[in-house]
Amino acid sequence: MDYYPLFVKLTDRPCLVVGGGNVAMRKVTLLRKAGARVTVVAPELCPELEQLRDAGEIEHLERRFDDGDIARRVLVVASTDDEAVNRHISELATASFVPVNVVDRPELCTFITPSMIDRSPLQVAISTGGASPVLARLLRSRIESFLPASYGRLAAMLDSFRDRAKARLPNPEIRRRFWERLLEGPVTELVLSGRDDAAHKIVDEALEEGLDRRDGGGEVFLVGAGPGDPDLLTFRALRLMQLADVVVYDNLVSPGILELVRRDAEMIYAGKRRNDHALPQEDINRLLVKLAKEGNRVLRLKGGDPFIFGRGGEEIDSLMQEGIPFQVVPGVTAAAGCASFAGIPLTHRDYAQSLIFATGHLKNGTIDLNWNMLAQPAQTVVFYMGLLGLPIICRELKAHGRAASTPAALVEQGTTQNQRVLVGTLDTLPELVKEHDVKPPTLIIVGEVVALHERLKWFRPGSDHTAHSLFSSHGHAAPAAAAASVEEQQPA
Ligand code: SAH
Repeated sequence: MDYYPLFVKLTDRPCLVVGGGNVAMRKVTLLRKAGARVTVVAPELCPELEQLRDAGEIEHLERRFDDGDIARRVLVVASTDDEAVNRHISELATASFVPVNVVDRPELCTFITPSMIDRSPLQVAISTGGASPVLARLLRSRIESFLPASYGRLAAMLDSFRDRAKARLPNPEIRRRFWERLLEGPVTELVLSGRDDAAHKIVDEALEEGLDRRDGGGEVFLVGAGPGDPDLLTFRALRLMQLADVVVYDNLVSPGILELVRRDAEMIYAGKRRNDHALPQEDINRLLVKLAKEGNRVLRLKGGDPFIFGRGGEEIDSLMQEGIPFQVVPGVTAAAGCASFAGIPLTHRDYAQSLIFATGHLKNGTIDLNWNMLAQPAQTVVFYMGLLGLPIICRELKAHGRAASTPAALVEQGTTQNQRVLVGTLDTLPELVKEHDVKPPTLIIVGEVVALHERLKWFRPGSDHTAHSLFSSHGHAAPAAAAASVEEQQPA
């Protein structure tokens, strides 16, 4: 170990920065953030440092460095452009046992500052010992991505209970186990999803009554998995996927995404495709309630966004009735994913000032929609579940006044390596689709914006030759039979 890591308390402690340029400014900013009393020695200051001086935030000694300056300093930073001065400061400070940092000169430093993530009171510091600051920064951004901003709030909340916990559970071993069990339970997730009050209450009650008297702590995460490409998951979705004990998923959730779920989680397939109702909706609602009541952290994983043709509302309604804690995590809905990856902007200042998401689901051979509204000009209409009903959709839109030449597209398996985009008009699209062997899921986009596809298409799927249908069956995914034929999804 080349360096001994430590965090130094600098509140109201005198620190010295030698040099008045931009680099000095960065060091001063950080020291100020930690509450240090900063003195800057420099004949001249950069404008930002001048501002700080004028505001009384720092003390300025307007001259060159003097040997006496390091006396009674907690630490010293040298960032002058004079190599000899920097070296002199380093030697002097080292001889006086004052920690010293010379910017960008590790060999002259007795301390270095890490790359860091500040979620105060939580802090993460990363160092390569000066070997590669870029690598440290890269690692930092990786760690940052799975360390939600609200961890700071969690740490602060736990801090507020520390004295009480100490009084209540004087034995440090028992106290440690108490915090461990508490943090493995719903408290962490409650704070991370912004339900601080509920978290507070649980800690409060646990301290009052002990952990064992509390109920199982089960809860449900209703999570949108996006349109197929695992890269389009949200950080929060990924975090909950790795936390869940049980996963209840639909056929629209791609195998690539299911692979990211915690290895030992129990997987339950809930359907559904047209004519393949693995589980009726009421059973799914009941299943979620039952699993949560058994104390499980249940991940209800749905394609796209749970609140867009996802029946998410019905599922949380029954949870609400049973008093089971839950949270909803949005996902990239198919319309957004398919449009982006097909180069079809859904709105456009010249062509479409509004946007409608509609279901094209066939029921008893018809689609019950407000066609007058859908056929209005200057708007884009996106049909989910519209493959089987496509001829009816095109016919009705024309019958209600939308021009037969209106561009229309079908996006098949959008965002995946199997994405295909078929572009025609209200007149030609149904035939075009018939000619191609189209596989679900598919989305239909109608409106002038579709014509932009020719110019704006950018995504070239198929470059990855190992790619296979994200929606075909392997691993945890749906049974094989239905994926092979052209069938349309029902809202799951
Ligand atoms: N909640 C989902 C929609 C569920 S309804 C969402 O927000 O996206 C199922 C329909 O979504 C399918 O019939 C299809 O029209 C559409 N769909 C979902 N994923 C798709 C994809 N990758 N490509 C094309 N259409 C998709």
